Amino acid sequence: MSDVPPSHPRYASLKTREKVVEGVEKGITGLNGLIAQGRGEALDYLIGERTTASGAEAERAAAAMLLLAERPVLSVNGNAAALVPEEMVLLARKIDAPLEVNIFYRTEGRVKKIADLLRSLGTGKVFGENPNAVIPGLDHARAKAARGGIYDADVVFVPLEDGDRCEALVNMGKKVITVDLNPLSRTARTSTVTIVDNVVRALPNLIALVEEMADLDESELNSVLAGYDNRAVLRRSVEEIVSHLSGRFSALED
Ligand code: ATP
Repeated sequence: MSDVPPSHPRYASLKTREKVVEGVEKGITGLNGLIAQGRGEALDYLIGERTTASGAEAERAAAAMLLLAERPVLSVNGNAAALVPEEMVLLARKIDAPLEVNIFYRTEGRVKKIADLLRSLGTGKVFGENPNAVIPGLDHARAKAARGGIYDADVVFVPLEDGDRCEALVNMGKKVITVDLNPLSRTARTSTVTIVDNVVRALPNLIALVEEMADLDESELNSVLAGYDNRAVLRRSVEEIVSHLSGRFSALED
């Protein structure tokens, strides 16, 4: 990365930012992706730039839900394609799921670039270039989906989704797993499982968890999910922000 040394206290955050900028330069990420990244950085700072206990609990539930799914699909937008393309492809392989390119400001050129990137990383099936179904309740451009992909999925893993589309997927009866650093966003409140963590930490964690849980049987996976309460986990993640901030505040008083 440019000239920032790994010892720099904000190295990981700056590296992530550069990847999004690179995504924009390559035509993979839309300009709005930069604004989303900026909001994400601010919120990540508030949670302490680490996977919190509530984030880890959501990741465990997400891994169980993906392993139990009959037709899981992983959705990839412009920011996910810039930040975690290899990890999305690896997770898809581990749970035998297809990927679908699903971007907010859709242009056919950008969809193709993301699909080409995922194929170059060795993914089998990528949906999204030829959408042939419509998600009810959304305007035309955002409603596009693929049969055999998101449209027919029982579980959709959709990091960084927008609130409307998340709600529309839930209204179709799907289980939706999102990654969103804002525990108060509509996406966070609407999803079945919300991982309040940075996508660059959440994906490696999920890959490790699906590997670790691959030998669990259906009833063991179901018992992981039975104890999971997304609203309670979101409340705890807000409490974790408050307690992290009060620690920072006390440091100012010394
Ligand atoms: P909603 O429609 O759900 O209320 P929003 O309109 O507030 O969402 P957007 O601008 O669509 O939000 O997307 C930005 C969201 O993505 C922010 O909540 C931000 O925290 C989250 N985000 C951005 N970058 C990351 C990241 N690297 N990891 C996890 N979350 C991220």
